[in-house]
Amino acid sequence: MEGTVLHVSSVSKRFGGLVALDNVSLEVGRSTITLLIGPNGSGKTTLINVVGGVLKPDTGAIYYEDKDITYMSPAERFRLGIVRTFQTPQLFRSLSVLENVLIPSKYFLEENVLDIVLSNRWVTKDREQVQRALEILSLLRLDHLWDAPASSLSGGQMKLLELGRILMSEPRVVLLDEPLAGVNPALAREIMKRLREIRDELGVTFLIVEHRLDLASSYADYVYAMHRGSVISRGTPDVVLKDPLVLEAYIGS
Ligand code: ADP
Repeated sequence: MEGTVLHVSSVSKRFGGLVALDNVSLEVGRSTITLLIGPNGSGKTTLINVVGGVLKPDTGAIYYEDKDITYMSPAERFRLGIVRTFQTPQLFRSLSVLENVLIPSKYFLEENVLDIVLSNRWVTKDREQVQRALEILSLLRLDHLWDAPASSLSGGQMKLLELGRILMSEPRVVLLDEPLAGVNPALAREIMKRLREIRDELGVTFLIVEHRLDLASSYADYVYAMHRGSVISRGTPDVVLKDPLVLEAYIGS
């Protein structure tokens, strides 16, 4: 595919006798929102983990901008601009919204992140960094809350804040694991709209695992549907969501 930023090529992954990924291939277009859907147990999280570097595939390869990253660590991938988020935002609840955005994301890959934060070693007096942090908060519509403790935010706002923290590291590809889980429909739509703005304004590519298809699909550019470790359908949201194979997979699960 022209403009492919991420290419998963014939990846398989077993856990003991269980085949979690069975020869999966997919291409993620640059500056797109690509959705990964499928019933529980279909292999979505395993695939995100393989792309993020938490898991190594048994066979197959992952390419980022034509570079083979299959055996790179998550930290090495992070340096290339590939960042993974988790269902629970990784925030410091007692610190302010602005402070959370200013803590460099690279520290979150280290085991002693708490020590680093408590020691204030991360503190930046760099005006440019603060400027950029405020711009990102403004893009996420969190700028008016810059001085509030992170603990005072709603669940959806915390997800946006984590996204803000990640955007400070200027990522190229962001892997999101169920960003809409536990968020009310209005805020879920807000999150999807913000992702589109980030895609357009910063050129970021998103690969998103999400169950709430009613809320997510109309904001996506492209969808891959998985079932039992394989890709069973791919295309624009309207095509994939109407694919009888996809409907069958959901009903049968
Ligand atoms: P999904 O995210 O689509 O719900 P997963 O990727 O979590 O699916 O799981 C795919 C399959 O792999 C499931 O059958 C799951 O039980 C199995 N699986 C996932 N991770 C592990 C693991 N660490 N050890 C053993 N089995 C696993």
